[in-house]
Amino acid sequence: MSSKFDTFATAVGCMDGRVQEPVFEFAKKRWGVKYVDTITEAGLVGLLASNDPGSLLLDSIKKKVLISVEKHHSRGIVVHSHEDCAGNPVSDSQQKEEIISAADIIRELEPGVEVVPVFVKRAEPGWEVIPL
Ligand SMILES: [Zn+2]
Repeated sequence: MSSKFDTFATAVGCMDGRVQEPVFEFAKKRWGVKYVDTITEAGLVGLLASNDPGSLLLDSIKKKVLISVEKHHSRGIVVHSHEDCAGNPVSDSQQKEEIISAADIIRELEPGVEVVPVFVKRAEPGWEVIPL
């Protein structure tokens, strides 16, 4: 059981280690939460944007989102991808379109929770989170 002091948001996006901390910081700050449930795949937004009804991977992602929202009462969901994505090697403009499509799918799944699509961009020496 989670205690009342355990507050959550949800991050849905790429597995790339370079973007995790900036995305967590963004979510913690935006929703004032202590923890960020983390759902990743390589190039996740590309997968989600394709919305293939037969995809087991897609079902698994959706199931994890439901657990985060229903069991952890997540306050918000950040859907992210990033520059230089090895798992979804498309142009930045296509990447951004797919982030927005992926966010729409998550929003349909969980209409009661704020869903924020973001693009994570290199900003030497770190990475910067840009809401779309
Ligand atoms: Zn990636």
